[in-house]
Amino acid sequence: MNREHAGGAALPKKPLFNPMGDTEVRSRRLIGGNTTNLNDFNNMKYAWVSDWYRQAMNNFWIPEEINLSQDVKDYPALSLPERRAYDKILSFLVFLDSIQTANLPCVGEYITANEVNLCLNIQTFQECVHSQSYSYMLDSICSPDERNSILYQWKTDEHLLRRNEFIGNIYNAFQEQKDPQTLLKVMMGNYILEGIYFYSGFMFFYNLARNGKMPGSAQEIRYINRDENTHLWLFRNIIRELQKEEPELFSEETVAELREMLMEGVRQEIAWGHYVIGDEIPGLTRAMVADYIRYLGNLRWTSLGYEALYPENLREPEEMRWVSEYSNANLVKTDFFEARSTAYAKSTALLDDL
Ligand code: ZN
Ligand code: ZN
Repeated sequence: MNREHAGGAALPKKPLFNPMGDTEVRSRRLIGGNTTNLNDFNNMKYAWVSDWYRQAMNNFWIPEEINLSQDVKDYPALSLPERRAYDKILSFLVFLDSIQTANLPCVGEYITANEVNLCLNIQTFQECVHSQSYSYMLDSICSPDERNSILYQWKTDEHLLRRNEFIGNIYNAFQEQKDPQTLLKVMMGNYILEGIYFYSGFMFFYNLARNGKMPGSAQEIRYINRDENTHLWLFRNIIRELQKEEPELFSEETVAELREMLMEGVRQEIAWGHYVIGDEIPGLTRAMVADYIRYLGNLRWTSLGYEALYPENLREPEEMRWVSEYSNANLVKTDFFEARSTAYAKSTALLDDL
């Protein structure tokens, strides 16, 4: 790559102990800045960080507080396609939350705005909790052998592996090549993962619950979904701040590449949804999956300030309304799932407008 070209030069890792770092808010930058690493909650450049931090803290939850006794009875009674989908989707979610846990600190090493690092650290913690919630679910509903085979299905199921390769390769590229362009693609990978990849899984669990099955699993997923919304919000904001601070990174060519990444993410999510859900799960069809995921693709791309990708899918499909209703963890009635579901949910607004 031409070293003169924007993003071509190596990105400096942030300094650690750095008493000569800038304390001026005006000179703070997301990347390439001179940070002191001081956690200063009073002088933030990015005003949205305060709201984000508060929301993330309010969202604290504990997987074991959700009662899975009904799920223990329901799981053996699921139809074969339902059970296959349940297992494969959990396997995929375990992978996603695990690679997030491992990758976010790598991103943080190059972020020179300390308030944004605070957010990334909280996100990392939440991804750990999500991974652990899947173990709690599996430990409750199946044997240790079945659990282990579900946890590692992504290593042998070619469809799962292909999916994970797409995101894994984007993240791995930054391990090899530490430049702003490659980091931007990691940011976009995060945005796709948080905003597209979780969703055919989430809709599957909500669909089971609305058919009276696996209510505890759906409740776990709601809390995870609420956290993922804040992660999506975080990466949307990071990308938007980079658009302002590093406009030369967003050449026409790069924007076209980011767009193609998102569209590839959408294609993969639909193909995956068709593979795991297909037309064999009561309440869901292939068309519903495709329409909903394209609609999300539009939301994600327009949230970054660009034109919609799929003109046919500008509005939330009427027949998928229940997904956003189910995903609203803060509106859960405690008697509905018999869980102390709102114990830590003190925040009033869910950020579902992304
Ligand atoms: Zn997660
Ligand atoms: Zn996340």
